[in-house]
Amino acid sequence: MPHRITARPARAETAPGAKDAASVALAAETLAEVPSRVDHDPAVVSAFLSDAAHVPGGYAAGVTFPRHEAEVAAAVAGAAGVLVVGAQSSLTGGATPRGEVVLSTRALTAIGTPSGGLVTAGAGVPLVALQRALTSAQLYYPPVPTYDGAFVGGTIATNAAGAATFKYGSTRPWVAAITVVLANGDVLDITRGETLAGPEGFEIALSTGAVRHVPIPTYQMPRVAKLSAGYFARPGMDLIDLFVGSEGTLGVVVRATLRVIPRPRRCLALVRCSGDRQAVAVTAALRAEAHLAWDGGGALDVAAIEYIDPLALRVVPDEAFTRAGVARPPDGSVLLLLQIEIAHDEGSALERLGTVLAANGVDDDPCVTRADDDRGAQRLLDLREAVPASVNAIVAAAKARVHPGIQKTAGDMVVPFDRLADSIALYRRAFEQRGLEYAIWGHVSDGNLHPNVVPRTIEDVQRGHDAILDIARAVTAMGGAPLAEHGVGRSALKQQLLREVYGEDGIEQMRAVKRALDPTWKLAPGVLFSRDP
Ligand SMILES: Cc1cc2nc3c(=O)[nH]c(=O)nc-3n(C[C@H](O)[C@H](O)[C@H](O)COP(=O)(O)OP(=O)(O)OC[C@H]3O[C@@H](n4cnc5c(N)ncnc54)[C@H](O)[C@@H]3O)c2cc1C
Repeated sequence: MPHRITARPARAETAPGAKDAASVALAAETLAEVPSRVDHDPAVVSAFLSDAAHVPGGYAAGVTFPRHEAEVAAAVAGAAGVLVVGAQSSLTGGATPRGEVVLSTRALTAIGTPSGGLVTAGAGVPLVALQRALTSAQLYYPPVPTYDGAFVGGTIATNAAGAATFKYGSTRPWVAAITVVLANGDVLDITRGETLAGPEGFEIALSTGAVRHVPIPTYQMPRVAKLSAGYFARPGMDLIDLFVGSEGTLGVVVRATLRVIPRPRRCLALVRCSGDRQAVAVTAALRAEAHLAWDGGGALDVAAIEYIDPLALRVVPDEAFTRAGVARPPDGSVLLLLQIEIAHDEGSALERLGTVLAANGVDDDPCVTRADDDRGAQRLLDLREAVPASVNAIVAAAKARVHPGIQKTAGDMVVPFDRLADSIALYRRAFEQRGLEYAIWGHVSDGNLHPNVVPRTIEDVQRGHDAILDIARAVTAMGGAPLAEHGVGRSALKQQLLREVYGEDGIEQMRAVKRALDPTWKLAPGVLFSRDP
């Protein structure tokens, strides 16, 4: 398999608002003739100065909204520094500019007609719009993060994962092809399986005739259910995997071809457990049921299990329970929210669920939404989303009232499932020893939880950072990783965690990759790691 790929000059392929990206090839334009429109109006620029991490101090040289590949290429080629952004739902400050031109992908919204289990989508397509388009063809794109407003390009750039990663994996294996604009404005069309690393890595021939040699880092990546921790590296790896998860530092994803599946029917079930011990046992039993179902021998196909701990439940306001039509559970309870896929018979799946819960001593009947009850399902999902929303509101209030430096202080930990109970105990110990208030929730079926500090003072934030660092080291020792799905971005803490995972040498090997593809450090500078050690 070749390890060499040839880049091409950009073409204006997709007209604004085109319905089918593949069918609207326009006459080729040369890059120099494409105007790069950068908007400097402070009223426009100010809307792009922060992301969902709410790190203060974002500033930008301007913002541009390219409508097709050639405009992306012109914008990138013409700028000294570029930060590409999608929906700016980053939780790491990775989509907060620090003086670059912000390249918003929001006008790259073409969605192709699905065919052969594949669909082509522009980088700026929000996942919710993609799912809507797929629903009419009874299709579904599975590896979605909890926030479905995220854009296709952003989720590829962060290798996003979510609740159903347990069944479907993270974004990476669902990306069949991408078109990427490189730092010099050239374009790569990368199809999975066509360009594999040789012993020296990859060779990329630019349209100028120059050849870029891209080395592959030699570090061992943690073997975990999900990982968003810098550059993917493995002997013989696929070139596409270098760009998936590279957080905008190696190229701008313009469009992607994604694998899709027939739309599954699903029920949701909200299960109340008496505490962590029971929640872990129930989750283990349900995972086993799911594996049985996937092997063709069981009725209970559980695609996702979400966990909300007693302290997280405490911060959720009463109205959120009322809206969900659920009574607030007694203090000390843990809630599990299950997604159950129904291939054939809903009745036998739910009967099996009852048996498993009873065998694990769960007293209450679960609150279940039937397979076609989309509204009921949404109400339960909204209750789950009320947890991070409530914690974020507390952080924002403390920041406004107590100290402007107060910020979200949270972990994104993943452990091998057999260490789940140990990891939860570890999170509690690390926070409680420091006198911190906290809440824990997340994708428990993957062993991926988000321990969050609920800060009252600026000192809590500092103590929280110390706790997360200690947790990260212990999680790594358990065979897990402290950077599961949100990425690294520009967060000093997450960049430190990246160094913990790969060491300074590993970061230096990532720098070598970056230097080969982006010698002037133009794309997302300061994201993942600094330019200098
Ligand atoms: C409420 C909430 C819940 C969330 N839940 C999850 C979850 O369950 N799982 C999860 O993985 N994440 C989750 N996230 C984080 C976030 O949604 C994901 O990281 C998402 O993938 C970011 O997509 P975006 O379009 O917002 O990208 P942005 O935030 O705009 O950008 C993120 C990074 O990707 C780069 N980038 C963006 N577009 C491109 C492109 N076209 N080409 C190259 N680089 C690009 C940016 O430079 C930046 O470094 C959540 C966030 C929120 C606010």
